[in-house]
Amino acid sequence: MRTYFIEFSYLLASVFFILGLKGMSHPESAKRGMHLAEIGMLMAIIGTLVHHEIVSFTWIITGLVIGSLVGLAMGVWVPMTAMPQRTALSHAFGAFAAALVGISEFYRTYGSGGHLERITMSALGFEVMLGSLTTTGSLLAFAKLQGLVRGTPMTYKGQNIFNMALLTITVGIFIYLVAVPGSMPLFFAMVGLAFVFGLLLVMPIGSADMPVVMSLLNSYAGLASAATGFVLNNKVLIIAGTLDGFSGFILSILMCRAMNRSMTNVLFGAFGSAATVAGAGTQEGTMREVSMDDVATQLAYAHKVVFVPGYGLATAQAQHAVRELADVLERRGVTVKYGIHPVAGRMPGHMNVLLAEANVPYSSLYELEQINPEFPTTDVAVVVGANDVVNPDARENPSSPIAGMPILDVDRSKSVIVLKRGQGKGFSGLENPLFFKPVTGMLYGDAKDTLTRLVQAVQEA
Ligand code: NAP
Repeated sequence: MRTYFIEFSYLLASVFFILGLKGMSHPESAKRGMHLAEIGMLMAIIGTLVHHEIVSFTWIITGLVIGSLVGLAMGVWVPMTAMPQRTALSHAFGAFAAALVGISEFYRTYGSGGHLERITMSALGFEVMLGSLTTTGSLLAFAKLQGLVRGTPMTYKGQNIFNMALLTITVGIFIYLVAVPGSMPLFFAMVGLAFVFGLLLVMPIGSADMPVVMSLLNSYAGLASAATGFVLNNKVLIIAGTLDGFSGFILSILMCRAMNRSMTNVLFGAFGSAATVAGAGTQEGTMREVSMDDVATQLAYAHKVVFVPGYGLATAQAQHAVRELADVLERRGVTVKYGIHPVAGRMPGHMNVLLAEANVPYSSLYELEQINPEFPTTDVAVVVGANDVVNPDARENPSSPIAGMPILDVDRSKSVIVLKRGQGKGFSGLENPLFFKPVTGMLYGDAKDTLTRLVQAVQEA
């Protein structure tokens, strides 16, 4: 009876996970998808708690309480702007848990003179190797994104060869352990090397590429969990881990596509390093600064305005202010749209999440392919803290490091207003010729502050 209950709750959990993922594939249904996935996780936990092999609940309850408190604190106190590093930390926790389960299974078996079948050892080795490298890789990704260590690529001569050599040795030990299982020192050498490899893998990757790497690490953590499922003969872990593994991998590929870069370039290209940025050349000319009143008048008498948000909107938390300005303009009869680049900000869907939080109607958000043909008929394109995603060099300069990356063609609008604090570069570290074009006016200041003052100025215009 108990076994049936467990199997049934695992089956329900898996169905909820799949429905949850489906829901999260669209911004409108994303919240519902998240809730479905939460129900799935609850079903999986309930199913696991009634397991007949559990002899004491002391450690389980302790873990549940600590985990719930940490999760609650992260949910309540971590701001939206820190979401990428929060995700990196969650991956590190998940991967560490998978690695620890594998290590304890191995230790428990061989410490008591037992033996693991080759197939079990393969799954266990895979789980521990991926879990360990994902732990340290995710922790370094967290430290880079949080600014605890330098976010730019850390490179040295022969780095890729050294990393490949280390990976080969680690995988070599893994294969040996599958063929001749049982050597405790070799097993722990493999664990140690995998921990080191995680750090080395992420070191040459700049913060701008971190979302791609994180979703790749997410994919590894998922595959490690699936392997754990094989070791523990737990079906829900196999299903959830596989879903996680493949969705993470697909997301990494989609992000690479949106930047017109290959996975190899992201992992080994040291994008944003001094060498790649130096190759981009410098920009001639001056930037034209405009006044608040000029911009307010332009906006108030425009027919069509397109807001293009970027990472600066997230740091300034300007989503409510941009919505207020849009409301004021719409009340004056101006048509307002938002152009959303797939990799604007620092994580996929970053802008959608922020604008949804400010109740911007989903029907006002336009994807890159939809909005680009509209720029020539746009009176004012307002760039709110975006830089790389509106850099025309990607379209016009084949020698640019971001050449070929699809961009929002704001420079084809009748007028462009850029809201940013100063001369700061985008995450690629490249200069942006858009800011030097005659059609562009620069309105300096924190995006939230500028937009709030613009609301007032447009009302008075
Ligand atoms: P961006 O190129 O990083 O530029 C952000 C701009 O915002 C900066 O130039 C900065 O200039 C300005 N800014 C910062 N704080 C501000 C504030 N408080 N108020 C006003 N402006 C502020 O951002 P993006 O155009 O969104 O491009 C995203 C980048 O991340 C791309 O290179 C993309 O390839 C990369 N990336 C994203 C993802 C993803 O999933 N979203 C994944 C991988 C890579 P000032 O300092 O002068 O203010």
